Amino acid sequence: MSTSTPQKFEFQAEIKQLLDIVIHSLYTEKEIFVRELVSNASDALEKLRHTQLTEKEIFDDKLDLEINVTTDDKAKTITLQDFGIGMSREELVKNLGTIAHSGSKQFLKALGEGGAKNTNLIGQFGVGFYSAFMVAKSVKVYSRSWRAGEPGHVWSSDGSGSYEIEESEGERRGTKIVIELKDECAEFAQDSTIKDILERYSAFVSFPINLNGKRVNTVQALWLRSKNEIKDEEYTEFYKFQAHAYDEPRLRLHFSADAPLSINALLFVPKENTEKLGLSRLEPSVSLYCRKVLIDAKPKELLPEWLRFLKGVVDSEDLPLNISRETMQDKSLIEKLNKVIAKRFLKFLEEEAKNRPDAYAEFYKEFGIFLKEGAALDYTHKDALVKLLRYESSLTEKGKTTSLADYVSRMGAEQKEIFYLNGPNRAAIESGPYLEGFKARNLEVLFCYEPVDEYVMNNVREFDGKKLTAADHADVKLADLPKPEGALSEADTKTLATWIKETLGERVAEVKASDRLVDSPVLALNADKFMSPHMRRMMKAMNKEGADSPLRVNLEINPRHAVIKRLFETHTTNADRAKLVAEQLLDNALISAGLMDDATAMVARLNKLLETI
Ligand code: ADP
Ligand code: MG
Repeated sequence: MSTSTPQKFEFQAEIKQLLDIVIHSLYTEKEIFVRELVSNASDALEKLRHTQLTEKEIFDDKLDLEINVTTDDKAKTITLQDFGIGMSREELVKNLGTIAHSGSKQFLKALGEGGAKNTNLIGQFGVGFYSAFMVAKSVKVYSRSWRAGEPGHVWSSDGSGSYEIEESEGERRGTKIVIELKDECAEFAQDSTIKDILERYSAFVSFPINLNGKRVNTVQALWLRSKNEIKDEEYTEFYKFQAHAYDEPRLRLHFSADAPLSINALLFVPKENTEKLGLSRLEPSVSLYCRKVLIDAKPKELLPEWLRFLKGVVDSEDLPLNISRETMQDKSLIEKLNKVIAKRFLKFLEEEAKNRPDAYAEFYKEFGIFLKEGAALDYTHKDALVKLLRYESSLTEKGKTTSLADYVSRMGAEQKEIFYLNGPNRAAIESGPYLEGFKARNLEVLFCYEPVDEYVMNNVREFDGKKLTAADHADVKLADLPKPEGALSEADTKTLATWIKETLGERVAEVKASDRLVDSPVLALNADKFMSPHMRRMMKAMNKEGADSPLRVNLEINPRHAVIKRLFETHTTNADRAKLVAEQLLDNALISAGLMDDATAMVARLNKLLETI
């Protein structure tokens, strides 16, 4: 089939949806399209530079690696041309007609989650190439691949559902995008407007940019400059450019090292954790450079998994320049880089925690989940990570946290373990029956609110030689407290416990007097070492096997509590009523433990009890 006649294509459905929103959006910062297109041009040049390292035959090999922007205010057009890698016909179809750009994907996902009215989302995620349609009546993309023998093509669209591709004679290598501007966007055909935008956005592009024939940027690698001559704004602009970000960085670490490897690194923590917002899992995106030349924009092994939230650049002179992006042959070198950078970043966080505790707390709220993941799974950095964990506790104020080290410093001589309790929030833990015995003995308990905490605690196991122990675990032994007046005697308590066990049968594994109850009559403890109440809830939520295995708990009773004392009297005189009360007490304990699955039987029983008013 001849390809010289124009061929018409429909956009993929997702792209149509995206274009529809982009075109009709009232998003005010339309100028971001310049940054998106310059960034694509820069990527294309970067890719060409790489191809040159391995390929001998490159079409138009003498062209300079630069970006040319021209404006025409009479014709109301802006043109961006790069001499980069270019696109073949197939690549034009694939890259500009189907959705691949992760930012666009996230954008659509966020819209799907109910943000359809919120055009600000464009600003938050960026829509890459398609941002051109915010300002364009029509877009023409002339492109010719670096592969000798591939003809040039022009791709054109007005953004309304379809595009056309046609062969185009006499194209140079690379891509030229011609935008015919909407009338209300004519300002982008002004030299001065574009100059202004380019100066802000393009300072970090590592290729020359010319506007109407005049150079606008001086190529510089910010990370190689000395810290004290870089302004905060420069760092921020660099972050936005490099990470394709729209927020401001929360933390930054700029460092260099000579041994064991020569490294210049500039790392950023974004403002928000987008994984927390329910968006897709972050991909590692700290770029790897060797002497200012990009080796890999998203190297997978450069940092540990749990550091996937970091943005920025690592430049090492020790990397061989011709290292292949695909294979990264020199694994051991990357592993070394990985260790050195992770260690340095952990040290930085430790300093932040010490010197700027409030900022650290804010960071932790947002990104602590990654530190937990690392503490649980990354054996190499576990110790350093555990030091960075923070929890509220029975001794902190609401909203304030403690480190494990501070917890340990408050432990009494006789305390051997670090206690923690899981629960959905502070109020739930404080009003439950589990805490009171620890409070009465002045034992601090860490409060864990996130479902992963239990997993983290189980994997971390100990800190500073002290075991991490769930305070609601049946094995926990607490020291004796002086017996208050008026409690049931030991013998009577035993009799009652035996009767309760007989009465409740299979529903309880064991019934005994409690050493940890102060104000509550009963408490359910986990009889199953491997399935805590919290874990069970999680498995239920995930519909996992095992969540429905018959539930058996240990019941502890409080010989000092009025209800227990009354029950002791009644269990011989009015056995029927006593049975109802015993069953109700067990259910109450299960409710406190979050283990009550179905309350219908309980309601029927409660009504029966109420009849005796
Ligand atoms: P992203 O840059 O995040 O991949 P874009 O929507 O900006 O997403 O671009 C989509 C794709 O189109 C790019 O991945 C690239 O393959 C291709 N592309 C865009 N602009 C150019 C260009 N100037 N030269 C070569 N390819 C380009
Ligand atoms: Mg892009």
